[in-house]
Amino acid sequence: MKENLNIQFVYPDYELPLEYEKAIESIDHTKIKSEAYASGADVLVLLNWKERTADVVQGNTCIIKASRRELYDYKKQVKTLLGQVDRLNIMLTDIAEFADSDIDDYKAWLDDIDDTIVDLYRKGKNVQLNLLTDRLMLSEMNNCNAGVSNITLAPNGKFYLCPAFYYQNPKGDVGNLKSGLAIKNQQLLKLDHAPICRHCDAYQCKRCVWMNSQLTLDINTPSHQQCVMAHIERNTSRELLIKLEENGIILKNHQKIEELAELDPFNSVNKWK
Ligand code: SF4
Repeated sequence: MKENLNIQFVYPDYELPLEYEKAIESIDHTKIKSEAYASGADVLVLLNWKERTADVVQGNTCIIKASRRELYDYKKQVKTLLGQVDRLNIMLTDIAEFADSDIDDYKAWLDDIDDTIVDLYRKGKNVQLNLLTDRLMLSEMNNCNAGVSNITLAPNGKFYLCPAFYYQNPKGDVGNLKSGLAIKNQQLLKLDHAPICRHCDAYQCKRCVWMNSQLTLDINTPSHQQCVMAHIERNTSRELLIKLEENGIILKNHQKIEELAELDPFNSVNKWK
């Protein structure tokens, strides 16, 4: 609270003791809950979204975790959700395995979802999907910002750059509640110290520093996989804007998105000099 941060509680799949609930309610916060104990959730994590055929989650901001294969196989369910919820965040679980041979399949899936979004807009639904609609409104990077504007406090009372660092290695903390934050070389987490990302305009990209640490062994250097996927999304967002305009739908405050040939900013390194 002293740092003026917004607190987001990630709930477990069981009921919390009353004293916890009382302490939580004593401060401003956001509740992220799974369907198992969804009461009062601000953000809902959908566990059984693949089996879902209709209703249940009207309104709300929802999160689903999925591999690309699951998204392709359960496209109908994703489309149903887009028509029902206020906002859908899709967290891809297999970015690390993405190969250039997967580009066409991912692009085809996004194109199809683009068409669904246009249809929904024509019916008067305001659709929000992190992969495609966020970029339409962004004029600067809106990344995860782990360790810069977000910090994770784990159940062991220690701080981590994000939950992934905690789950991978609980000894890799960056301070604790007693002694405070201790992030070494924090500047490396910032956009102005990310030599590739700072030249990029895939503003919706998570710019996941945990994935960087796993795939390039360098916290401020992104992987080819993350860049290519984010650029396919960026380019499909651009096409979405064009399709919406062709259908007479003009979004307030939308941002113009330039056409880009390269899917990985690293390939444009000569232009930065
Ligand atoms: S697409 Fe690549 S370069 Fe651009 S922000 Fe994401 S990780 Fe960084």
